[in-house]
Amino acid sequence: MPEKKIALFGGTFDPIHLGHTAVAAAAGEHIGAEKVVFVPARRSPLKAFFPEASDEDRLAMIGLAISGNSRFDVSDYELKKAGPSYTLETVRYFREQLGSGVLIYWLAGADTLEDLPHWYGVTELIDEGNLAVMYRAGFAPPDFSKFLPLWGGDRVRKMRQNVVETPLVDISSTEIRKRLSAGQDVGGMICPKVLQYIRERRLYGIQDY
Ligand code: ATP
Repeated sequence: MPEKKIALFGGTFDPIHLGHTAVAAAAGEHIGAEKVVFVPARRSPLKAFFPEASDEDRLAMIGLAISGNSRFDVSDYELKKAGPSYTLETVRYFREQLGSGVLIYWLAGADTLEDLPHWYGVTELIDEGNLAVMYRAGFAPPDFSKFLPLWGGDRVRKMRQNVVETPLVDISSTEIRKRLSAGQDVGGMICPKVLQYIRERRLYGIQDY
């Protein structure tokens, strides 16, 4: 019987945008994952700043953005956890919950490539799970050659096999936050229900437009 696969998609989602949902859908399909689970972080261990929106608001916006897609799910595991969340620990937690019959993937955009060597326990993460790097607009296709001396041939081969050629969607949360606070249009960048939520809560210093 083929193994069941689950893809976890971590990030700050501040706010979640159509780039996130587009690549998550494409990667889930490519992998053959039963579900893609969005796992918002309280804060990235490698980002200097805390997210602008609260944990509750980011979680609520993810819920709105994924409603209607039965292949998407969301977990508040990292939000509830004290201290920084390391991907390795999160993947181990899900492995424990889901059992050894489920193959776990962790999705990350190509912009994270340079940070990968600094991730806590990245070699264990590569060995124990499947770290799948996706294409991202504005970033070169992931090239792992430079990590050969660090990780060795087997790991680099595994990383190459797990690359997902997702569609290039040139959207970032930074750009959305910038536009919202400047009163510029973000239509086509985020789910209308999420925009409605942002308006109602007056998040990100939104100016009417
Ligand atoms: P920010 O601009 O605030 O840094 P972001 O748009 O990069 O945010 P994150 O929440 O930091 O969004 O990203 C979560 C994950 O989604 C990361 O692995 C990131 O690489 C990936 N990602 C975000 N946007 C895209 C996109 N447009 N295409 C592919 N991957 C993306």
